[in-house]
Amino acid sequence: TSSSTATEHGGDVRLTGISKTYDNGFTAVRPLDLTVPAGSFFALLGASGCGKTTTLRMIAGLEEPTTGTVRLGDQDVTGLPPYKRPVNTVFQSYALFPHLDIFENVAFGLRRRGIKSVKKQVEEMLDLVQLGEQARKKPHQLSGGQQQRVAVARALINHPQVLLLDEPLGALDLKLRRQMQLELKRIQTEVGITFIHVTHDQEEAMTMADTVAVMNAGTVEQLGAPTDLYENPRSTFVANFLGTSNFVSCEISGRGGDELTLTAGDGKLALFADRCSAPTTTGGKLLLGVRPEKISIVHADDAASVPVGRNRLTGRIKDSSFIGVSTQYVVEGPLCDGFEVYAQNVERDPRLVPGAEVVLHWNPAHSFGLDATQDVE
Ligand code: ATP
Repeated sequence: TSSSTATEHGGDVRLTGISKTYDNGFTAVRPLDLTVPAGSFFALLGASGCGKTTTLRMIAGLEEPTTGTVRLGDQDVTGLPPYKRPVNTVFQSYALFPHLDIFENVAFGLRRRGIKSVKKQVEEMLDLVQLGEQARKKPHQLSGGQQQRVAVARALINHPQVLLLDEPLGALDLKLRRQMQLELKRIQTEVGITFIHVTHDQEEAMTMADTVAVMNAGTVEQLGAPTDLYENPRSTFVANFLGTSNFVSCEISGRGGDELTLTAGDGKLALFADRCSAPTTTGGKLLLGVRPEKISIVHADDAASVPVGRNRLTGRIKDSSFIGVSTQYVVEGPLCDGFEVYAQNVERDPRLVPGAEVVLHWNPAHSFGLDATQDVE
């Protein structure tokens, strides 16, 4: 199947030992290997300065790698200038030509290559981005989201094997951003080529991408499907970057089959070994993680109602806020200090106010285990 994939989509993007040290001696990307499967929607996710744009620019040919190679399918493109690579980039500043109408903006790449009859292709592209009606308008007459779609059409008309998107939605307001996320996802599914999308917004990466590479300090911390990264982070960095996590420092006190028994203070907790990225030897230490929405909260007077087999911790409500879809609690307790709990779709218990004694409980299957030597922050 790899040869048919290669012809349909141009093959995987394969970075091998790629790194970038800038002239001032600063290493923005440390040697990394990364394979972006052909036809996938791939996100490079990370905080500002982690090296994601530099990585993207090395794929585009806009930045020369200090070490390593860039391959597209069978072709080593490391030494090729940008215009010789079957790659196009859409930037946050869409840089449309202000004096040309939308049609001519999209036609630009074809005209530059001396192609005379552009009408059919341009119209197809405008339909793809749902701007068929706007062909004769000038860029300034369109909304930000529409202008961004013109930029996408203008890039796609060159039939790249790979479309690179560098924070393309960064300039849009939240609502438009959400619409455009779905829109870009639809376009990618329709054209079937590889999209590599750079963003610092975890929700955006999770919404759009099949595969996300979480970057930190010039390297890829973890790579996987959004659900996998969320449910099975392998470091506190990834756990915290993709949402809120609560952690308990534990010691492994026993094991029955796949289930580990953990001791924390005078509490006992359980965790499944296959949800654990650290060694699971008895006597070893672990960080047990659990997401706020996986935790149930009950008043201490109702402690007897907690089903057996649940992980449970006792504490006191420090803070609560009703945010419509859920109520968020911050709890303090010997083993759950600063825990966040999101209670969704439940009758609000009027006793659950700051100061109330509570029991937190959750299904052990919803915990993940991390190496205990990391910082929790
Ligand atoms: P952002 O979202 O802010 O663009 P990023 O994760 O995309 O962040 P890069 O743009 O790849 O990060 O930059 C990584 C680091 O390299 C940053 O610390 C940046 O200051 C530095 N850097 C970028 N370009 C250069 C350059 N030409 N010379 C020296 N340092 C650079």
